[in-house]
Amino acid sequence: EEKKVINFSPGPAKLPEDVLARAQKEFLNFNNTGVSVMELSHRSADFSQIIGHAERDLRDLLEIPDNYKVIFVQGGGTGQFSAVPLNLIDLKPGASADYIVTGSWSAKSAKEAEKYGKINRVLPKTEKYSVIPDQSTWNLSPEASYVYYCANETIHGVEFQFIPETNGVPLVCDMSSNILSKRVDVSKFGVIFAGAQKNIGCAGATLVIIREDLIGFSDPICPILMDYKTQVGNNSLYNTPPTYSIYIMGLVFQWIKEHGGVAQMEKNSRQKSTILYDIIDNSNGFYQCPIERDSRSRMNITFRIGVNFEDEALEKKFIDEAHQNGLISLKGHRSVGGIRVSIYNAVHVHEAEKLGEFMKNFQRLNI
Ligand code: PMP
Repeated sequence: EEKKVINFSPGPAKLPEDVLARAQKEFLNFNNTGVSVMELSHRSADFSQIIGHAERDLRDLLEIPDNYKVIFVQGGGTGQFSAVPLNLIDLKPGASADYIVTGSWSAKSAKEAEKYGKINRVLPKTEKYSVIPDQSTWNLSPEASYVYYCANETIHGVEFQFIPETNGVPLVCDMSSNILSKRVDVSKFGVIFAGAQKNIGCAGATLVIIREDLIGFSDPICPILMDYKTQVGNNSLYNTPPTYSIYIMGLVFQWIKEHGGVAQMEKNSRQKSTILYDIIDNSNGFYQCPIERDSRSRMNITFRIGVNFEDEALEKKFIDEAHQNGLISLKGHRSVGGIRVSIYNAVHVHEAEKLGEFMKNFQRLNI
């Protein structure tokens, strides 16, 4: 069946066609159980296989060291904005943490963490998030219980091209919008978390990878289902986990393995984003990316339209005409306006090329 649209949604986002087709095939009768995955007990042998397989594939894909635990929980990325301080702020007596705020999501996380401890914002306050300042300008505190950052700011389109050096202070990373899109050295992190609905599945499940020695320090007020120790100790089955979302995540992990693994996803993302940034940079100011070159995201490409100014009417025309051409979900986040193209793992290189052709034509016809 010919697909009629190309989905550039920021999330929930496009899933690989093969994953959806397989889920459909197995929908009514999973693995000859006679029931849907949705209808399986989370304590059944069949579900145990699903979650076990998902964890093993993830460990393979990211080469997760043995001293790290993996859990699948509810609550989304936002749930982890609370869970991180509730579990880690008491690692040191000062109950403080450093937050590297580079966009809306890290800003929200820092604000939430302030309920539980003393939060030090490492970078000067700004309204315009367009760059990751050089690490030499940061003011990290050695007494911090942890250092927090967001690897890819989904709204602004700002992505770290390096892993911050924290000199032994545990590093916590929100990888919701770029996990499994490039190789990372997991051993550099204390905690990595990611909501599923962008690169690794559908909404409902959140992945958390935790270094073993950081487990067991939760604040006494920490809700039990946010407590890493409870979730790790019960293999994510303390209460009912988001079973169907975990199943879809497992299918996505298999798909990535079958398609060259994380290294290939990284190559693809480089290729897709380069196609689009080149068109922006060679448009003589018709398209403008507000993000500095070294901080640009490979996943969310943000730009404005109009010869050297932001022409909102022209941007609306772009979005409408793109939609008529089957290129959907290109509107920038309401807080920043403009255009945002989200190209997660499931978006093919030829789909990015198709949008690139549309952009070149649109410029020619509207200059
Ligand atoms: N972090 C990042 C980087 C995000 O992009 C998002 C959601 N778009 C969140 C956190 C919040 O995730 P959730 O909606 O799952 O709570």
